[in-house]
Amino acid sequence: MADPEARYNEMMNTLKENNQKLTPQRLAILRILSGSEGHPSVEEIHQKLSKDFPGISQATVYRTIMMVKSLGQVLELGFADGSNRYDGNKPDPHPHVICTKCKKIIDPNVSNLVDLPRQIAEESGFEIVTYRLDIFGICPECRAQS
Ligand SMILES: [Zn+2]
Ligand SMILES: [Zn+2]
Repeated sequence: MADPEARYNEMMNTLKENNQKLTPQRLAILRILSGSEGHPSVEEIHQKLSKDFPGISQATVYRTIMMVKSLGQVLELGFADGSNRYDGNKPDPHPHVICTKCKKIIDPNVSNLVDLPRQIAEESGFEIVTYRLDIFGICPECRAQS
């Protein structure tokens, strides 16, 4: 995991460089995205914010995340059931492990997976632009419950 404080500053600087306003709401969204604990959905981020910003709409949260995404500062993981999840802690493509029960998403810390896209590029002759690698399973907490 990247240092959330460093990521927060990096995101803030990128917004500044692109003349985006740093409103308290936006900074609060960046704060949540910089840690991206469990890879939150828009709904989860909205819920966390509504304590401090009772008036903020889910659409505003969504638009802010899209703006941050357009600046390459957050990774979006789309799923067939329509629930997109976000990682602002590590905005570049990386493998994910997903619990099919509680929908938690974690970043596995397995170094040789990082080399996989390079190996595939060599083998296939493709220039790799981006990639997606999801591994599905049951997390330790859910396993302990069953
Ligand atoms: Zn689980
Ligand atoms: Zn991730």
